Amino acid sequence: MSGCVFCKIAAGEVPAQIVKKGNGIIAFTDMNPQAPTHLLIIPTIHIGSLNDAKDPNLLGQLLAFARDLAKEQRIDTRGYRVVLNTNPDGGQTVFHVHLHLLGGRVMNWPPG
Ligand code: AMP
Ligand code: ZN
Repeated sequence: MSGCVFCKIAAGEVPAQIVKKGNGIIAFTDMNPQAPTHLLIIPTIHIGSLNDAKDPNLLGQLLAFARDLAKEQRIDTRGYRVVLNTNPDGGQTVFHVHLHLLGGRVMNWPPG
């Protein structure tokens, strides 16, 4: 989608530190990290939010990708958090669906 920064990252038109590429999925470092490990996992096709995601297989693939990435980043044993913010009350600011993979420190609960 034109104007979508994550589509531009997927197309290589906006620079990002890509850490993993899969089948229709990429992961890159968040520009404003909230933890020692803070990666974003996105489908390469444009989907605005979880509300617009029609394909449950893709949602499962995104989650499995995050799980595999956590292992590769060696945060799987101590633990990590996967976050999917949706729409304004959920804290979503980029309207291309994405998972946050956060680790390397203890996470607080409840979240803010
Ligand atoms: P959310 O608030 O859940 O929509 O998360 C959007 C995330 O994207 C934020 O953590 C931003 O720091 C991050 N972000 C926005 N633009 C970029 C970019 N060009 N490269 C890397 N991360 C970005
Ligand atoms: Zn997009």
